[in-house]
Amino acid sequence: MHNLEQRGLRTDISGMPVSWITYREAVRLYHLGQVRYTCGSLMYRVHGGVSALSGERRVIEVNSIIATDGRSRGAVLNYEDYIPPLSNEALFKRDAGMCMYCGEKFRHSMLSRDHVTPLSRGGGDNWNNVVTACKRCNNHKAGRMPEECGMSLLAIPFTPTYAEYLFLRGRRVLADQMEFLAGYFPRESPLRERIAELKKAA
Ligand SMILES: [Zn+2]
Repeated sequence: MHNLEQRGLRTDISGMPVSWITYREAVRLYHLGQVRYTCGSLMYRVHGGVSALSGERRVIEVNSIIATDGRSRGAVLNYEDYIPPLSNEALFKRDAGMCMYCGEKFRHSMLSRDHVTPLSRGGGDNWNNVVTACKRCNNHKAGRMPEECGMSLLAIPFTPTYAEYLFLRGRRVLADQMEFLAGYFPRESPLRERIAELKKAA
């Protein structure tokens, strides 16, 4: 059993991952009868109201992965064309908090967003042109291309898919939720390796 801070993973009726939900949202979905089936493990039991018929207190069992119908964000999303909003927090998580030039890990406050092709050279502020860099490497590189200053990238920047972005946004993602999300990652996703490492460490 987990504490109530643990987020559930909501999917649409076809099993496509949609969003992280709090236990309150999960309980609401159970109450509304919108939960169609569940996967994963039992996260917690929540006591509901007293049944008017039997006088018994209802207990709702909340699973780590919940497939729902009703209006879901999954229905309006075009998975293929989805581009997640670019934020430093998500970028640093994509790159596992590692400077993509020197390979060292840093706290988020020590990291910065580097434009591989500098903005001044026409580079875009988009996922495929940005990497996590420590402030020292970023200052050293300044307005130059990496090869102009003897620097090279440790990994090629990529745009996360919807499922990858959900994984990156998750806090304390459970092993079964990771595995479920990874089923929707592209075959070559660099995040697969990270999940394998996380599971080994767990
Ligand atoms: Zn660095």
